[in-house]
Amino acid sequence: MKKIDLHVHTNFSDGLYSPKEVIDLAKEHDYGVIAITDHDNIGGYLHIRDYAKQVGIELIPGVEISTNHKGRDVHILAYDFDLDNLELKELLQKIYDSRFERAVKIIEKLNKRGIDISIEDVQNFAGENNYIGRPHIARAMIEGGYCAHKYEAFELHIGEHCYAYVPKFAPSSKKAIKTIHKANGISVLAHPYTLGDDRLIYDLIRYGLMGMEVFYAKCNDETIYHYNEIAQKNYLIRTGGSDFHGDGIDLEIFGNYTAPDFILEEMNRGENE
Ligand code: AMP
Ligand code: ZN
Ligand code: FE
Ligand code: FE
Repeated sequence: MKKIDLHVHTNFSDGLYSPKEVIDLAKEHDYGVIAITDHDNIGGYLHIRDYAKQVGIELIPGVEISTNHKGRDVHILAYDFDLDNLELKELLQKIYDSRFERAVKIIEKLNKRGIDISIEDVQNFAGENNYIGRPHIARAMIEGGYCAHKYEAFELHIGEHCYAYVPKFAPSSKKAIKTIHKANGISVLAHPYTLGDDRLIYDLIRYGLMGMEVFYAKCNDETIYHYNEIAQKNYLIRTGGSDFHGDGIDLEIFGNYTAPDFILEEMNRGENE
């Protein structure tokens, strides 16, 4: 049976590994189907799709969009969308563009507190498309000796409740779901347990949400059971993935994890498609 992971990041967003390294690692661990779901851009997917095909990995088009619903950071995954859809491309571009300005603002706030890192220091940790997220800022802080590890950076400086936090532009969850559907894509709520409030899921279902990431690798069985019930009662497509970024325990999870193969049928990607 081929292994499946539909939630993987590369250094085209905030993962540590390049798209090629991710595909090589996936091959090494016997994966048959992978989706690169970088945050807010599909550069990594476009970059590596031919190579994935060459080495016999089915690469599903994917992206993870950071959206806003009732002030919450809601991650919506999109799969199998039309890559040339203008509206989706523009939405992703707008989010991407806002990241750079936001990083500059965060760095200014850090500088005022004596954390002397520059945008160039941060860019050193970015991949070739220069996507910058808070994890890159954390890496520059660690390299500068201002923090021992990523969690400290988020806990004391750049986390949502800290002095240097600056929100990024995020479309509403409703807008993102509608845009994904206009591009003929499948909209999926990523890691539903991170919302901490199931009522929000029903709002998203009213907006037309098609699926939920029930089989998230970092969840326990009880949590999976809980979201599996919600998904089945509401006729949602179930998906699953590891949310691999390449650090911490990710290397252990990736390789051992697989999503159940029926998710491909639910996504209409069965053997005969
Ligand atoms: P950004 O999209 O730039 O706001 O960064 C969000 C990313 O930062 C998430 O996808 C996580 O990978 C990481 N992150 C967010 N909060 C934390 C935290 N408390 N500790 C470690 N990493 C975090
Ligand atoms: Zn991430
Ligand atoms: Fe996420
Ligand atoms: Fe993710």
